[in-house]
Amino acid sequence: MKYPIPRGTFDILPESSYKWNYIESLFKDIAERYNYRRITTPIFERTELFERSVGNTSDIVEKEMYKFQDKKGRNFALRPEGTAGVVRSLVDNALASQGSLAMLWYMGPMFRYDRPQKGRYRQFYQYGIENIGSHHPFIDAEVISIGWVLLKTLGLKGFELQINSLGDDTDSAVYDAALISYFTPYKKSLCQDCLNRLERNPKRLLDCKVSTCKEIAAQAPNILEFLSDDNQQHFHLVQRYLKLMNIPFIINPRIVRGLDYYTHTAFEFVTDSLGTQNTLLGGGRYNKLVEQMGGKPMPGIGFAGGFERLMMVMEQEGCSFGKKPLPQAYFIVAGDVAQEPAIKLMQSLREQGIALTWNPDKISFKAQMKSADKSGATWTLIIGEDEVAASTVTIRNMETGKQQAVSISDTDIIAEYILNNK
Ligand code: AMP
Repeated sequence: MKYPIPRGTFDILPESSYKWNYIESLFKDIAERYNYRRITTPIFERTELFERSVGNTSDIVEKEMYKFQDKKGRNFALRPEGTAGVVRSLVDNALASQGSLAMLWYMGPMFRYDRPQKGRYRQFYQYGIENIGSHHPFIDAEVISIGWVLLKTLGLKGFELQINSLGDDTDSAVYDAALISYFTPYKKSLCQDCLNRLERNPKRLLDCKVSTCKEIAAQAPNILEFLSDDNQQHFHLVQRYLKLMNIPFIINPRIVRGLDYYTHTAFEFVTDSLGTQNTLLGGGRYNKLVEQMGGKPMPGIGFAGGFERLMMVMEQEGCSFGKKPLPQAYFIVAGDVAQEPAIKLMQSLREQGIALTWNPDKISFKAQMKSADKSGATWTLIIGEDEVAASTVTIRNMETGKQQAVSISDTDIIAEYILNNK
Protein backbone atom coordinates (compact mmCIF):
# COMPACT_ATOMS: atom_id res chain seq x y z
CA MET A 1 0.00 0.00 0.00
CA LYS A 2 1.36 3.39 -1.03
CA TYR A 3 0.25 6.58 0.66
CA PRO A 4 -0.08 9.68 -1.49
CA ILE A 5 1.23 12.95 -0.09
CA PRO A 6 -1.58 15.29 1.10
CA ARG A 7 -2.82 17.57 -1.67
CA GLY A 8 -1.16 20.98 -1.69
CA THR A 9 1.94 19.79 0.19
CA PHE A 10 5.37 18.74 -1.07
CA ASP A 11 8.57 17.07 0.07
CA ILE A 12 11.79 19.01 0.05
CA LEU A 13 14.08 16.37 -1.37
CA PRO A 14 17.77 16.07 -0.50
CA GLU A 15 19.01 17.31 -3.87
CA SER A 16 17.22 20.63 -3.49
CA SER A 17 17.72 21.10 0.25
CA TYR A 18 20.83 23.17 -0.30
CA LYS A 19 18.72 25.71 -2.16
CA TRP A 20 16.40 26.06 0.83
CA ASN A 21 19.38 26.30 3.17
CA TYR A 22 20.82 29.04 1.00
CA ILE A 23 17.71 31.24 1.12
CA GLU A 24 17.18 30.53 4.82
CA SER A 25 20.68 31.46 5.82
CA LEU A 26 20.70 34.57 3.64
CA PHE A 27 17.47 35.75 5.24
CA LYS A 28 18.88 35.05 8.74
CA ASP A 29 22.07 36.96 7.91
CA ILE A 30 20.20 39.97 6.60
CA ALA A 31 17.73 40.06 9.51
CA GLU A 32 20.58 39.82 12.03
CA ARG A 33 22.45 42.55 10.13
CA TYR A 34 19.50 44.82 10.93
CA ASN A 35 19.71 43.64 14.57
CA TYR A 36 16.55 41.51 14.45
CA ARG A 37 16.49 38.33 16.56
CA ARG A 38 14.76 35.04 15.96
CA ILE A 39 11.46 34.15 17.60
CA THR A 40 9.91 30.72 17.26
CA THR A 41 6.29 30.17 18.23
CA PRO A 42 4.12 27.03 18.10
CA ILE A 43 2.62 25.94 14.81
CA PHE A 44 -0.80 25.71 16.46
CA GLU A 45 -2.57 28.25 18.61
CA ARG A 46 -6.08 28.79 19.90
CA THR A 47 -8.42 29.29 16.93
CA GLU A 48 -9.73 32.46 18.54
CA LEU A 49 -6.30 34.08 18.32
CA PHE A 50 -6.48 34.01 14.53
CA GLU A 51 -10.17 34.93 14.43
CA ARG A 52 -9.49 38.04 16.52
CA SER A 53 -6.30 39.14 14.78
CA VAL A 54 -6.41 38.07 11.15
CA GLY A 55 -10.13 38.83 11.25
CA ASN A 56 -13.41 37.05 10.75
CA THR A 57 -14.01 38.60 7.34
CA SER A 58 -10.67 37.54 5.90
CA ASP A 59 -10.52 34.59 3.49
CA ILE A 60 -7.99 32.95 5.77
CA VAL A 61 -10.33 32.77 8.75
CA GLU A 62 -13.54 32.37 6.80
CA LYS A 63 -12.44 29.50 4.58
CA GLU A 64 -8.85 28.41 4.94
CA MET A 65 -8.01 27.43 8.51
CA TYR A 66 -7.08 23.91 9.51
CA LYS A 67 -9.06 23.70 12.75
CA PHE A 68 -9.20 20.87 15.26
CA GLN A 69 -10.22 20.07 18.80
CA ASP A 70 -7.83 18.47 21.24
CA LYS A 71 -8.82 15.67 23.63
CA LYS A 72 -10.23 18.15 26.09
CA GLY A 73 -12.40 19.78 23.43
CA ARG A 74 -10.33 22.96 23.17
CA ASN A 75 -10.34 24.67 19.77
CA PHE A 76 -7.02 25.03 18.02
CA ALA A 77 -5.89 25.85 14.50
CA LEU A 78 -2.68 25.28 12.57
CA ARG A 79 -1.22 28.73 12.10
CA PRO A 80 -2.17 30.28 8.76
CA GLU A 81 0.36 33.11 9.23
CA GLY A 82 3.05 34.20 11.67
CA THR A 83 2.16 37.62 13.06
CA ALA A 84 -0.68 36.54 15.38
CA GLY A 85 1.54 34.05 17.26
CA VAL A 86 4.42 36.51 17.47
CA VAL A 87 2.16 39.21 18.93
CA ARG A 88 0.65 36.68 21.37
CA SER A 89 4.17 35.84 22.52
CA LEU A 90 5.21 39.50 22.70
CA VAL A 91 2.28 40.19 25.02
CA ASP A 92 2.88 37.00 27.09
CA ASN A 93 6.56 37.75 27.55
CA ALA A 94 6.47 41.57 27.61
CA LEU A 95 9.01 41.70 24.79
CA ALA A 96 8.53 45.39 24.02
CA SER A 97 7.95 48.48 26.11
CA GLN A 98 8.01 52.22 25.67
CA GLY A 99 11.40 53.07 24.24
CA SER A 100 12.46 49.49 23.66
CA LEU A 101 11.46 47.93 20.39
CA ALA A 102 10.93 44.27 19.72
CA MET A 103 12.78 43.47 16.50
CA LEU A 104 11.99 39.93 15.52
CA TRP A 105 12.32 37.50 12.63
CA TYR A 106 10.83 34.06 12.17
CA MET A 107 10.51 31.29 9.68
CA GLY A 108 8.54 28.09 9.47
CA PRO A 109 5.57 26.30 7.97
CA MET A 110 2.13 27.91 7.63
CA PHE A 111 -1.11 26.17 6.69
CA ARG A 112 -4.04 27.34 4.57
CA TYR A 113 -6.77 25.19 3.11
CA ASP A 114 -6.95 26.86 -0.29
CA ARG A 115 -7.19 25.50 -3.82
CA PRO A 116 -3.61 24.50 -4.66
CA GLN A 117 -2.04 26.01 -7.77
CA LYS A 118 1.36 27.22 -8.95
CA GLY A 119 2.82 29.23 -6.07
CA ARG A 120 -0.04 28.35 -3.70
CA TYR A 121 0.16 25.40 -1.32
CA ARG A 122 -1.66 24.14 1.74
CA GLN A 123 1.54 23.86 3.70
CA PHE A 124 4.08 26.50 2.74
CA TYR A 125 7.11 28.09 4.34
CA GLN A 126 7.26 31.71 5.30
CA TYR A 127 10.05 33.96 6.54
CA GLY A 128 8.97 37.12 8.28
CA ILE A 129 9.95 40.28 10.15
CA GLU A 130 8.12 42.10 12.93
CA ASN A 131 9.12 45.43 14.45
CA ILE A 132 6.92 46.34 17.41
CA GLY A 133 6.95 49.49 19.55
CA SER A 134 7.46 52.43 17.18
CA HIS A 135 5.30 54.43 14.81
CA HIS A 136 8.32 56.23 13.35
CA PRO A 137 8.05 56.24 9.54
CA PHE A 138 11.71 55.30 9.30
CA ILE A 139 10.80 51.93 10.82
CA ASP A 140 8.34 51.38 7.95
CA ALA A 141 11.11 52.14 5.47
CA GLU A 142 13.59 49.96 7.37
CA VAL A 143 11.28 46.95 7.40
CA ILE A 144 10.65 47.41 3.68
CA SER A 145 14.38 47.71 3.08
CA ILE A 146 14.97 44.28 4.67
CA GLY A 147 12.71 42.79 2.00
CA TRP A 148 14.44 44.81 -0.69
CA VAL A 149 17.95 43.75 0.38
CA LEU A 150 16.84 40.11 0.53
CA LEU A 151 15.41 40.05 -3.00
CA LYS A 152 18.31 42.02 -4.40
CA THR A 153 20.94 39.84 -2.72
CA LEU A 154 19.23 36.70 -3.98
CA GLY A 155 19.81 38.14 -7.45
CA LEU A 156 16.18 38.68 -8.44
CA LYS A 157 15.60 41.19 -11.21
CA GLY A 158 12.01 41.48 -12.36
CA PHE A 159 10.34 42.61 -9.14
CA GLU A 160 8.69 45.82 -8.08
CA LEU A 161 7.92 47.37 -4.71
CA GLN A 162 4.39 48.73 -4.42
CA ILE A 163 3.32 50.78 -1.41
CA ASN A 164 0.09 52.23 -0.11
CA SER A 165 -1.34 53.68 3.06
CA LEU A 166 -4.57 52.46 4.62
CA GLY A 167 -4.67 55.26 7.20
CA ASP A 168 -6.02 54.74 10.70
CA ASP A 169 -9.46 53.62 11.94
CA THR A 170 -11.02 57.02 11.39
CA ASP A 171 -9.76 57.34 7.81
CA SER A 172 -10.73 53.78 7.18
CA ALA A 173 -14.32 54.19 8.39
CA VAL A 174 -14.88 57.22 6.12
CA TYR A 175 -13.26 55.40 3.20
CA ASP A 176 -15.35 52.26 3.79
CA ALA A 177 -18.52 54.37 3.69
CA ALA A 178 -17.37 55.92 0.41
CA LEU A 179 -16.68 52.47 -1.04
CA ILE A 180 -20.08 51.15 0.04
CA SER A 181 -21.87 54.03 -1.66
CA TYR A 182 -19.69 53.62 -4.77
CA PHE A 183 -20.24 49.87 -5.14
CA THR A 184 -23.90 49.63 -4.08
CA PRO A 185 -25.35 50.71 -7.46
CA TYR A 186 -23.28 47.91 -9.10
CA LYS A 187 -24.64 45.19 -6.81
CA LYS A 188 -26.17 43.23 -9.69
CA SER A 189 -22.82 42.92 -11.47
CA LEU A 190 -20.65 41.96 -8.46
CA CYS A 191 -19.56 38.39 -7.72
CA GLN A 192 -20.99 36.58 -4.69
CA ASP A 193 -17.80 37.05 -2.64
CA CYS A 194 -17.87 40.81 -3.26
CA LEU A 195 -21.55 40.99 -2.35
CA ASN A 196 -20.83 39.24 0.93
CA ARG A 197 -17.94 41.58 1.65
CA LEU A 198 -19.63 44.80 0.61
CA GLU A 199 -20.98 45.70 4.06
CA ARG A 200 -18.48 43.78 6.20
CA ASN A 201 -15.15 44.64 4.57
CA PRO A 202 -15.60 46.80 1.46
CA LYS A 203 -11.85 47.31 0.92
CA ARG A 204 -11.61 43.68 -0.11
CA LEU A 205 -13.61 44.51 -3.24
CA LEU A 206 -10.55 46.33 -4.50
CA ASP A 207 -8.49 43.17 -4.83
CA CYS A 208 -11.14 40.86 -6.28
CA LYS A 209 -9.72 38.90 -9.22
CA VAL A 210 -13.05 38.51 -11.11
CA SER A 211 -12.87 40.62 -14.28
CA THR A 212 -16.28 42.37 -13.99
CA CYS A 213 -15.53 43.30 -10.35
CA LYS A 214 -12.08 44.49 -11.40
CA GLU A 215 -13.59 46.76 -14.06
CA ILE A 216 -16.00 48.27 -11.56
CA ALA A 217 -13.27 48.66 -8.93
CA ALA A 218 -11.05 50.54 -11.38
CA GLN A 219 -13.04 53.75 -10.85
CA ALA A 220 -13.56 53.32 -7.09
CA PRO A 221 -12.51 56.12 -4.72
CA ASN A 222 -8.82 56.27 -3.84
CA ILE A 223 -7.84 55.65 -0.20
CA LEU A 224 -5.04 58.20 -0.38
CA GLU A 225 -7.61 60.98 -0.72
CA PHE A 226 -9.14 59.95 2.61
CA LEU A 227 -6.03 60.14 4.79
CA SER A 228 -5.82 62.66 7.63
CA ASP A 229 -2.99 65.21 7.45
CA ASP A 230 -0.93 63.29 10.00
CA ASN A 231 -1.31 60.03 8.15
CA GLN A 232 -0.51 61.67 4.84
CA GLN A 233 2.62 63.11 6.41
CA HIS A 234 3.59 59.68 7.75
CA PHE A 235 3.20 58.13 4.31
CA HIS A 236 5.11 60.97 2.74
CA LEU A 237 8.04 60.43 5.15
CA VAL A 238 8.11 56.68 4.47
CA GLN A 239 8.56 57.56 0.79
CA ARG A 240 11.25 60.07 1.61
CA TYR A 241 13.26 57.50 3.58
CA LEU A 242 12.87 54.93 0.82
CA LYS A 243 14.25 57.45 -1.66
CA LEU A 244 17.13 58.22 0.69
CA MET A 245 17.93 54.49 0.71
CA ASN A 246 17.70 54.32 -3.08
CA ILE A 247 14.83 51.86 -2.98
CA PRO A 248 12.58 52.31 -6.02
CA PHE A 249 8.82 51.97 -5.51
CA ILE A 250 5.50 52.81 -7.03
CA ILE A 251 2.36 53.87 -5.17
CA ASN A 252 -0.49 51.44 -5.67
CA PRO A 253 -3.68 52.59 -3.90
CA ARG A 254 -5.25 49.16 -4.62
CA ILE A 255 -3.08 47.34 -2.10
CA VAL A 256 -5.42 46.53 0.76
CA ARG A 257 -3.91 43.20 1.93
CA GLY A 258 -6.22 40.34 2.82
CA LEU A 259 -5.82 40.46 6.60
CA ASP A 260 -7.89 42.72 8.82
CA TYR A 261 -5.18 44.00 11.12
CA TYR A 262 -3.40 46.35 8.73
CA THR A 263 -3.35 50.13 9.22
CA HIS A 264 -1.20 52.88 7.63
CA THR A 265 1.61 51.62 5.38
CA ALA A 266 0.90 48.48 3.35
CA PHE A 267 3.34 47.10 0.79
CA GLU A 268 4.06 44.23 -1.54
CA PHE A 269 6.96 43.10 -3.63
CA VAL A 270 5.47 41.71 -6.83
CA THR A 271 7.03 39.93 -9.76
CA ASP A 272 5.90 39.45 -13.33
CA SER A 273 7.32 35.91 -13.53
CA LEU A 274 4.73 34.04 -11.45
CA GLY A 275 1.33 34.41 -13.12
CA THR A 276 -1.57 35.09 -10.77
CA GLN A 277 0.29 34.34 -7.51
CA ASN A 278 2.62 37.24 -8.15
CA THR A 279 3.23 38.58 -4.64
CA LEU A 280 6.67 37.60 -3.40
CA LEU A 281 6.26 39.17 0.00
CA GLY A 282 3.82 41.50 1.63
CA GLY A 283 3.24 43.34 4.85
CA GLY A 284 2.28 46.51 6.59
CA ARG A 285 1.57 48.31 9.84
CA TYR A 286 -0.73 46.89 12.47
CA ASN A 287 -0.99 49.65 15.06
CA LYS A 288 -4.05 48.23 16.86
CA LEU A 289 -3.12 44.57 16.95
CA VAL A 290 -1.05 44.42 20.15
CA GLU A 291 -3.84 46.09 22.09
CA GLN A 292 -6.41 43.79 20.50
CA MET A 293 -4.33 40.82 21.69
CA GLY A 294 -4.48 42.05 25.29
CA GLY A 295 -1.24 44.04 25.36
CA LYS A 296 -0.61 47.72 26.03
CA PRO A 297 -1.41 49.88 22.98
CA MET A 298 1.67 49.63 20.81
CA PRO A 299 2.28 50.13 17.10
CA GLY A 300 3.96 47.52 14.94
CA ILE A 301 4.89 46.69 11.37
CA GLY A 302 6.07 43.55 9.60
CA PHE A 303 6.09 41.44 6.49
CA ALA A 304 6.06 37.82 5.44
CA GLY A 305 7.19 36.12 2.27
CA GLY A 306 7.00 32.60 0.96
CA PHE A 307 10.06 30.47 0.24
CA GLU A 308 8.39 28.55 -2.59
CA ARG A 309 7.73 31.60 -4.71
CA LEU A 310 11.28 32.88 -4.16
CA MET A 311 12.64 29.52 -5.19
CA MET A 312 10.49 29.41 -8.33
CA VAL A 313 11.46 32.89 -9.47
CA MET A 314 15.12 32.29 -8.68
CA GLU A 315 15.10 29.13 -10.78
CA GLN A 316 13.29 30.91 -13.59
CA GLU A 317 15.73 33.82 -13.54
CA GLY A 318 18.78 31.53 -13.28
CA CYS A 319 19.92 32.92 -9.90
CA SER A 320 22.70 31.22 -7.98
CA PHE A 321 21.91 29.09 -4.91
CA GLY A 322 25.52 29.02 -3.72
CA LYS A 323 27.63 25.89 -3.73
CA LYS A 324 26.15 22.41 -3.61
CA PRO A 325 27.48 20.73 -0.46
CA LEU A 326 30.01 18.01 -1.27
CA PRO A 327 32.09 15.72 0.92
CA GLN A 328 35.69 16.90 1.13
CA ALA A 329 37.03 13.37 1.13
CA TYR A 330 35.88 9.88 0.16
CA PHE A 331 37.30 6.90 2.00
CA ILE A 332 38.17 3.76 0.03
CA VAL A 333 38.66 0.76 2.25
CA ALA A 334 39.97 -2.39 0.59
CA GLY A 335 40.04 -5.65 2.56
CA ASP A 336 38.82 -6.62 6.03
CA VAL A 337 42.07 -5.67 7.78
CA ALA A 338 41.70 -2.11 6.57
CA GLN A 339 38.33 -1.50 8.24
CA GLU A 340 39.49 -0.86 11.80
CA PRO A 341 42.28 1.64 11.03
CA ALA A 342 39.96 3.33 8.51
CA ILE A 343 37.14 3.75 11.02
CA LYS A 344 39.53 5.22 13.60
CA LEU A 345 41.02 7.69 11.12
CA MET A 346 37.60 8.65 9.78
CA GLN A 347 36.32 9.46 13.25
CA SER A 348 39.35 11.53 14.07
CA LEU A 349 39.07 13.52 10.80
CA ARG A 350 35.37 14.12 11.28
CA GLU A 351 36.06 15.41 14.77
CA GLN A 352 38.51 17.84 13.16
CA GLY A 353 35.72 19.20 10.99
CA ILE A 354 36.26 17.30 7.75
CA ALA A 355 33.23 16.21 5.74
CA LEU A 356 33.90 12.69 4.52
CA THR A 357 32.02 9.62 3.51
CA TRP A 358 32.49 5.96 2.53
CA ASN A 359 30.58 2.80 1.77
CA PRO A 360 31.10 0.10 4.42
CA ASP A 361 29.48 -2.62 2.29
CA LYS A 362 31.81 -5.05 0.60
CA ILE A 363 32.15 -3.65 -2.88
CA SER A 364 35.12 -3.81 -5.22
CA PHE A 365 37.91 -1.26 -5.22
CA LYS A 366 36.83 -0.19 -8.69
CA ALA A 367 33.24 0.36 -7.58
CA GLN A 368 34.44 2.41 -4.60
CA MET A 369 36.63 4.51 -6.91
CA LYS A 370 33.58 5.16 -9.09
CA SER A 371 31.53 6.25 -6.06
CA ALA A 372 34.39 8.51 -4.95
CA ASP A 373 34.35 10.14 -8.37
CA LYS A 374 30.59 10.54 -8.32
CA SER A 375 30.57 12.01 -4.81
CA GLY A 376 32.37 15.13 -6.02
CA ALA A 377 34.96 14.90 -3.20
CA THR A 378 38.31 16.50 -4.00
CA TRP A 379 40.25 13.94 -1.95
CA THR A 380 40.25 10.17 -1.79
CA LEU A 381 41.79 8.41 1.17
CA ILE A 382 42.78 4.83 0.40
CA ILE A 383 43.55 2.12 2.91
CA GLY A 384 44.24 -1.35 1.56
CA GLU A 385 46.38 -4.25 2.75
CA ASP A 386 49.63 -2.54 1.69
CA GLU A 387 48.77 0.60 3.61
CA VAL A 388 47.84 -1.43 6.71
CA ALA A 389 51.17 -3.25 6.55
CA ALA A 390 53.05 0.05 6.28
CA SER A 391 50.75 1.93 8.73
CA THR A 392 50.00 4.55 6.08
CA VAL A 393 47.08 5.98 4.18
CA THR A 394 47.25 6.99 0.53
CA ILE A 395 45.91 10.47 -0.09
CA ARG A 396 44.87 11.15 -3.66
CA ASN A 397 43.84 14.47 -5.11
CA MET A 398 41.04 13.64 -7.52
CA GLU A 399 41.55 16.77 -9.56
CA THR A 400 45.31 16.48 -10.18
CA GLY A 401 45.60 12.71 -9.84
CA LYS A 402 48.62 13.22 -7.54
CA GLN A 403 48.87 10.85 -4.61
CA GLN A 404 51.05 10.39 -1.57
CA ALA A 405 51.45 8.00 1.34
CA VAL A 406 51.20 9.56 4.80
CA SER A 407 51.63 7.85 8.16
CA ILE A 408 48.19 6.91 9.45
CA SER A 409 48.97 8.30 12.89
CA ASP A 410 49.72 11.77 11.45
CA THR A 411 46.07 12.81 11.47
CA ASP A 412 46.99 16.49 11.68
CA ILE A 413 48.99 16.26 8.48
CA ILE A 414 46.21 14.33 6.74
CA ALA A 415 43.67 16.92 7.88
CA GLU A 416 45.91 19.73 6.68
CA TYR A 417 46.08 18.23 3.19
CA ILE A 418 42.33 18.15 2.97
CA LEU A 419 41.54 21.45 4.67
CA ASN A 420 44.16 23.48 2.82
CA ASN A 421 43.63 21.61 -0.42
CA LYS A 422 47.38 21.36 -0.95
P1 AMP B 1 0.19 36.74 3.25
O1 AMP B 1 0.51 36.13 4.60
O2 AMP B 1 -1.06 36.20 2.63
O3 AMP B 1 0.31 38.21 3.25
O4 AMP B 1 1.33 36.21 2.27
C1 AMP B 1 2.66 36.62 2.36
C2 AMP B 1 3.49 35.79 1.39
O5 AMP B 1 3.45 34.42 1.76
C3 AMP B 1 2.99 35.79 -0.04
O6 AMP B 1 3.50 36.88 -0.72
C4 AMP B 1 3.55 34.49 -0.56
O7 AMP B 1 4.92 34.61 -0.91
C5 AMP B 1 3.44 33.58 0.63
N1 AMP B 1 2.19 32.79 0.62
C6 AMP B 1 0.99 33.12 1.14
N2 AMP B 1 0.10 32.12 0.97
C7 AMP B 1 0.75 31.13 0.33
C8 AMP B 1 0.39 29.82 -0.11
N3 AMP B 1 -0.82 29.33 0.08
N4 AMP B 1 1.35 29.09 -0.74
C9 AMP B 1 2.60 29.57 -0.93
N5 AMP B 1 3.00 30.78 -0.53
C10 AMP B 1 2.10 31.56 0.10
